[in-house]
Amino acid sequence: MEIKRLRVGELQTNCYLVWNKSQDCLIIDPGDEADFITEEIINLKLKPQAILLTHGHYDHCLACLELKLNFNIPIYLDEKDNFLYQNASKSAEHWSATKAFKQPLTTPLPKEIKLGEELIKVISTPGHTPGSVCFYAAPHLIVGDTIFEDGVGRTDFSYSSASDLQKSINLIMSLPEDTLIYPGHENTPVYLSSILHPKF
Ligand SMILES: [Zn+2]
Repeated sequence: MEIKRLRVGELQTNCYLVWNKSQDCLIIDPGDEADFITEEIINLKLKPQAILLTHGHYDHCLACLELKLNFNIPIYLDEKDNFLYQNASKSAEHWSATKAFKQPLTTPLPKEIKLGEELIKVISTPGHTPGSVCFYAAPHLIVGDTIFEDGVGRTDFSYSSASDLQKSINLIMSLPEDTLIYPGHENTPVYLSSILHPKF
């Protein structure tokens, strides 16, 4: 499996292109800059199958509409984060210069996503948001805003839960030490062994 990180948007979100030998590709967290993401997909000769969202925050999903129009693929999101996703462009309008628009509908996340022969496990990791998930294809773990090289995700939102996040972090910490963590911002990938004592 190949993984390429693209940094997109004002908050420099890590969007990931994940693909297999047949060039079947998943787009994870397309936070912004749909044209740039599309160009990369075309240059790498990838065949997008779906968009996966680690959670519903606007800086992880603003390019969904354009990518859906370009490739006509489903958008998978944990239903518990739909309230964030549906308001994403409104939030973006509030925090930045983006204009509000209606987000395309999402499909509820199954427990596993197929990418050709490969299976990507969906692990529920609530805390930062109620519907936060990680995508796991050992040794790769794409974690969104649950954990970073130098700390854990924010839980100061009204819908966040620090105790849920603690449980989710414990679950991640129980994975093999050679697990490669791909966070939604900043450095990537990071060995789990180098963040064995996450700072809260
Ligand atoms: Zn977030």
